[in-house]
Amino acid sequence: MKMAEKPKLNLNRVPIPKQEPEIRRKNFNEVALGYAEEQALEEANRCIECKKPGCKDGCPVNVDIPEFIKAIQDGNMPEAVRILKSKNSLPGICGRVCPQETQCEMTCNLAKKDAPIAIGRLERYVADWEGAHPCHSEPFAPCHSEGAKRPKNLAQDRLCEGGESNPAQDKLREESRGAQDISKEKKIAVVGSGPAGLTCAADLAKLGYGVTILEALHVTGGVLMYGIPEFRLPKVIVQSEISYVKSLGVEIKLDQVIGKIATVDELLENGFDAVFLAPGAGAPMFLDIPGENLSGIYSANEFLTRTNLMKAYLFPEYDTPIKAGKRVVVFGGGNVAMDASRCALRLGAEEVYIIYRRSKVEMPARAEERENAEEEGVIFKLLTNPRRFIGDEQGRVKAVECYQMELGEPDESGRRRPIPKPGTEFIIDIDTAIVALGTRPNPIIPSTTEGLELTRWGTIKTDEATGRTSKERVWCGGDMATGAATVISAMGAGKRAAADIDAYLQGKS
Ligand code: FAD
Repeated sequence: MKMAEKPKLNLNRVPIPKQEPEIRRKNFNEVALGYAEEQALEEANRCIECKKPGCKDGCPVNVDIPEFIKAIQDGNMPEAVRILKSKNSLPGICGRVCPQETQCEMTCNLAKKDAPIAIGRLERYVADWEGAHPCHSEPFAPCHSEGAKRPKNLAQDRLCEGGESNPAQDKLREESRGAQDISKEKKIAVVGSGPAGLTCAADLAKLGYGVTILEALHVTGGVLMYGIPEFRLPKVIVQSEISYVKSLGVEIKLDQVIGKIATVDELLENGFDAVFLAPGAGAPMFLDIPGENLSGIYSANEFLTRTNLMKAYLFPEYDTPIKAGKRVVVFGGGNVAMDASRCALRLGAEEVYIIYRRSKVEMPARAEERENAEEEGVIFKLLTNPRRFIGDEQGRVKAVECYQMELGEPDESGRRRPIPKPGTEFIIDIDTAIVALGTRPNPIIPSTTEGLELTRWGTIKTDEATGRTSKERVWCGGDMATGAATVISAMGAGKRAAADIDAYLQGKS
């Protein structure tokens, strides 16, 4: 990569190439294609190298953002990889799905001019560069080991030049040395293999602990695998980054439902010195209106799990079918609702509606994903709420009755409260409904573990700074502690807990 002249102040963010809406709404391939080398360099060179960079403060896992951007500017990609991975074991994932606009990009000093550096896109570029150059990055990106092939994108058009040594590689090897030899006697069990569990496990392995992840499903990755669709987060990227975590020495055991095959107390009695709980919040919430049990009504969890994890979109090659229907309504305004609506389109629905009781401003979904959904043809029915479902003689849903809302004063969430408008009822004919109202923690672990204090929302009471729970030798983080949140907040919690578990086991706290 050649050095380029650094412009003084360039407020033009480099757009990321995307599949055209008309094409992508018919396939499950990744929508955003990633920067090419020249685009990444142009974007990196917009960084003004501030004396007091705000970006770093906005990153929940403290990535040294100015330094990795500098490495891109210098054309030193192995160093960019090293800087990123010293703090973040899952950069390809974060570069794709983190809400950077409310984190590092929001605190970037150029955000004041409405043109923050596209930190997420650059992070993705670095991660994809590493995936395309495994010989450069071994042993810390063992793409070959799982036979994992990253999807072809612009960053991958270059050849791997061989396995010659590089100082950045040597430094990362040095930093990860503890992981290669398990140098500490203490053993830690991590329950759940989503971003919180993977991050905690990776950090503890880097410190030299023996770490075992116990995962309930037959696949590692949590929501990254079963929730977020392929077209936003290719599963080969997730598995490749999980391979990295494994390469640090982390053992992963699948099909292990803690609370059923063993309790937390049994883990502590049988060889584990500490337990980190990261089972997420995977139990769906429902509308609780008449007719919700009719056939053709899915929770977003079921719909997305069938589509993404069980690969229903590849039926009959994969043996899980799904009936998406022709007229689909999705209830909710978050990322989950956007994902469900866009999957329905790709599965052949002719009309897909998002029904949301507030306005666009209050929608919790990332603006980028909302725009993508709109570009693809999802129709937004805002300030609208459902009253009841109407079924046919076979017990299948055939319509939903809705009514209009208006916004009142802000409620306890800070958003304006939606108020029903009398006399505004109307019927929408549908054949499928998907409820994406959010999720709550599954009670299986709390109900089988003595001494774990809960909050009134059913999450595990946890000290935010350390992840400690009310039970000795048990930590918790991610959605199980906060309720449904984000990938990066789960990772931040995993990191803080790993540091505190280490301090505790070393007798320092
Ligand atoms: P999870 O990712 O839920 O992982 C928990 C793991 O624990 C799972 O693998 C589960 O099988 C396992 N487990 C559960 N119970 C047990 C048990 N008893 N024993 C053993 N294992 C158990 N966030 C973003 O930042 N950006 C996005 O774009 C985004 N999009 C999303 C889209 C969807 C459809 C969904 C559902 C969520 C999205 N999120 C997004 C939120 C984000 O994915 C979660 O906040 C994050 O995955 C939480 O991580 P976690 O590690 O706490 O839990």
